Amino acid sequence: MARPKSKSHVGEKHNRLTILEQHSEKKAVYFTVKCDCGTIKKVRKDAIIGPRAETKSCGCVLKAHDWNRGRDARSPMWSRAKYRAKQKGLDFNITKEDIVIPDTCPC
Ligand SMILES: [Zn+2]
Repeated sequence: MARPKSKSHVGEKHNRLTILEQHSEKKAVYFTVKCDCGTIKKVRKDAIIGPRAETKSCGCVLKAHDWNRGRDARSPMWSRAKYRAKQKGLDFNITKEDIVIPDTCPC
C-alpha cells in the first residue's frame, strides 16, 4: 500500500520525540512517538513538524528545562492561581513556595 504523496517520517527525531509509526486518519497524519523519558504517545503531525509545531516532548521537557536551567517553573503557575483567585473574589495568600511540582513525568 504505497502512498507516494505522504512522506514517511518514521525514524526521525524532533526534539525529544522519536517517531515510531506514522498513521493517516481522515485528513490528518498522526505519529506514534517515543519521548526520551520513555513515554509513548500519539500526536498530530502538525504538533511536531511544521510552522505550528509546539510539542517538543510528552510534556516532561518543560519541567526538565525549567529545573535544569534554574528557572522557576512555579511562577506562571502561581500567576494563574492568583488570577483565578481574583476572578472568584478569593483571598490569595499562597506563595510560590507552596506550589509543589512532582518529580516524575506526569504523563
Ligand atoms: Zn517525556
